[in-house]
Amino acid sequence: MSDMPASRVHVTDVVLRDGHQSLIATRMRTEDMLPVCADLDAIGFHSLEVWGGATFDACVRFLKEDPWERLRRLRQAIPNTPLQMLLRGQNLLGYRHYADDVVTRFVARAAEGGIDIFRAFDALNDLRNLETAMQAIKSVDRHAQGTLCYTVSPVHTLDMFVADAKRLVDMGADSIVIKDMAGLLTPYATYDLVGALVDAVEVPVHLHAHATSGLASQCLLKAVEAGCRHIDTCSSAFSGGTSHPATEAMVAAFHDTDFDTGLDLEAIKAVGDRLRDIRGKYAAFESEFTQEDVSVQLNQIPGGMMSNLAHQLKEQNALSRIRDVFAEIPRVRAELGYPPLVTPTSQIVGSQAVINVLTGSRYKSITNEVKRYLLGGYGHPPAPVDEAIRHLAVGNQMVEEGRPADSLDPEMVRLTEELGSLADTEDDVLTYAMFPDIGRDFLVGRRDGTLVPEPLPAQQGEQRPVSEGTPTEFVIDVHGESYEVQITGVGSNTSGKRQVYLTLDGMPESVVFEPRDSYQPASRGNGRAQATSPGHVTTAMPGNIVDVLVVEGDAVAAGQPVLITEAMKMETEVHARQSGVVRAIHVVRGDRVTPGEVLIEIE
Ligand code: MN
Repeated sequence: MSDMPASRVHVTDVVLRDGHQSLIATRMRTEDMLPVCADLDAIGFHSLEVWGGATFDACVRFLKEDPWERLRRLRQAIPNTPLQMLLRGQNLLGYRHYADDVVTRFVARAAEGGIDIFRAFDALNDLRNLETAMQAIKSVDRHAQGTLCYTVSPVHTLDMFVADAKRLVDMGADSIVIKDMAGLLTPYATYDLVGALVDAVEVPVHLHAHATSGLASQCLLKAVEAGCRHIDTCSSAFSGGTSHPATEAMVAAFHDTDFDTGLDLEAIKAVGDRLRDIRGKYAAFESEFTQEDVSVQLNQIPGGMMSNLAHQLKEQNALSRIRDVFAEIPRVRAELGYPPLVTPTSQIVGSQAVINVLTGSRYKSITNEVKRYLLGGYGHPPAPVDEAIRHLAVGNQMVEEGRPADSLDPEMVRLTEELGSLADTEDDVLTYAMFPDIGRDFLVGRRDGTLVPEPLPAQQGEQRPVSEGTPTEFVIDVHGESYEVQITGVGSNTSGKRQVYLTLDGMPESVVFEPRDSYQPASRGNGRAQATSPGHVTTAMPGNIVDVLVVEGDAVAAGQPVLITEAMKMETEVHARQSGVVRAIHVVRGDRVTPGEVLIEIE
């Protein structure tokens, strides 16, 4: 390396994390990664990004793989290239703030599992939320990369980004990365920002720029001209659109210049060809919303958020309202103090915008996460929030000004006790910490040997092999309505009955199947009546019942919360519209509900 010129550009390839996350809903399985690992390892990348929140989630939720086991296997298969992960600061790989002891143990275990470079970010760029993670990374002698989440707003000035970068270096950052998750950067904005950062800090400046708007390869070029020597790219098999510029193209762009990456273009292309074949297996997860689209320069909505919104609106037969939602998002974002849109703020802003549009009345219903956000539960927003909306949402409740995690008691002992004998290792406890419900389900399934990965849906025109002559996917018609059914798993045969796991229109269901009986789906067509009077409590969004807050016979006041529902990972309180007595409750925790159904009757 020492004979390399100082102007050499170093490349991080993100295909094993961000590439498939951006283009095929994070579904690539470890078995499809391992065969290309030796070739990827031989290329000489600065690092390979292999782990992050969505990959961890998809492993546990859909693929029924142990994410820690994936990390160890990748480490074994990639012995020479530094492995990199994306860490959501105090949120780790989950969706809430964890106590400091969980952060410290998580980082230590990830380092032992094989992570060399930790890229730590906070959605609000509230750097207090990175303090514990940065200390933990330094204490296990790994590379701590501090992140600037890039966004555009009246308060996100060059001065603000430079000040944050300097503070990150003071906190121990070994490098700084500009994370442009939405594809908002333009080439000349990049040139100015990188130039300012390179002047201000001694550590290397990296650029992670999504190709959503079609500008990212130009941004990488201008970044290098401004002094950046570390770029993120993705193998051409998973490049472009909401992913990243192709590794091959960027290596070619700098070839035979002072910035030459020194990487072998033919070798990179050969791995790309193999990965392209693998991508074909996942055709069912391709989406039109991952294609290049310059409109992000207009509405600032990241690609991942776009497909999430489209899915949510489609579920409610409201896809035609997507333009209204796109117009609502910037308004909500401004009212919430211009948070960058990245997990979890993208969900917080996006779901509130959907609710504002679909209920036809802005902030008539407010999600619990927006309330938590307005109370300071995620940290300081970049700019002051709209006080009228804060008052509407949380009244005169005290806003927490301190670092959110300061109010959290240590959690590891409690989590370990809760899992009891289900946990084989500390890694299991950390999996459970990230995902209390699906994490526990995963550990139970692993113990019982009943884990069944989500099937790879058949591609058009292709017959999937079926076992025992039983179809695994079919369409059923009930009273003129069609449902797509997929059998996803069959439980053990006990007392003559079998548990059959299936999805109906993509929603998980399970039924008890008695051989020779016709089977009865358990929860579809639950027979709930349609709401017709103000005493009928119903929801504005389809979702799941998280909690029922009243029992029959309770006296309730108008405006009192009676249910908590969950949609798009966001919890919402449902309020009684009139005072009275609870006469009937038609839901229990875990039920799936759709708008208009009578869930509770108040007289
Ligand atoms: Mn990314």
